[in-house]
Amino acid sequence: HLSKRLAAVAQFVPQDSIIADIGSDHAYLPIWLTEQNRLKGAIAGEVVAGPFESTQTHVNQWHLDQQIQVRLGDGVEVLDPTKDHVDCIVIAGMGGLLITEILTRGLDHLNGHERLVLQPNIMESTVRVWLNEHDYAIVDEAIVAEDGHIYEVIVGEPGASVAPLSESDHVFGPVLRQTQPNDFQLKWGTMLKKRRHLLQQLQNAQVVPIDKVKAVEHEIALIE
Ligand code: SAM
Repeated sequence: HLSKRLAAVAQFVPQDSIIADIGSDHAYLPIWLTEQNRLKGAIAGEVVAGPFESTQTHVNQWHLDQQIQVRLGDGVEVLDPTKDHVDCIVIAGMGGLLITEILTRGLDHLNGHERLVLQPNIMESTVRVWLNEHDYAIVDEAIVAEDGHIYEVIVGEPGASVAPLSESDHVFGPVLRQTQPNDFQLKWGTMLKKRRHLLQQLQNAQVVPIDKVKAVEHEIALIE
């Protein structure tokens, strides 16, 4: 049984793919996908000793060490682009900046054909800008609320014709701003209220911080 967040990630993993789950921790995702007969194989990467042991322990408990290779190392650097034949890389449950840093550091370790399924906890726009700048098309997106937080999933594919993204595409997501699911309305409705409240506070300050006011006004206009 997967959390809503990880289920939203799992839906974008193509049937019969070989995946790399980077920052796998408990390895819930590759274990669940393997149990559902969704994968041809999996690599679970971890860089921190504690989580790495947790990955190994869980994989062994499920007797899946033939199906899921657990590797210790930084980001996608655990991958060998000539031997591993990875079809899909998942990086979930980290900040957007960390996700893009991992991808940038490890570019040499990609075979160039992988679908990227990315689930930043914060700084989603950084992920979209990175994908756009590295010629990945954003082919799908999802948004789910769980335990008081709203998570976004962003799917990038190489090789497609990549249209430049607008500022609204970066902030809201090129797919999500078209489909506007309930949790999207919830996220941006809440954000709009918060920004309007902040703007009021800034305007009431003894010394009004003009630049900050302008930035918040711009954000409000975008959301509206
Ligand atoms: N991916 C799982 C999920 O979404 O439920 C676990 C998310 S957990 C919050 C983030 C994991 O990423 C941690 O276990 C951390 O050790 C790992 N991590 C952070 N930086 C990493 C890196 N550069 N390479 C590999 N793993 C990393």
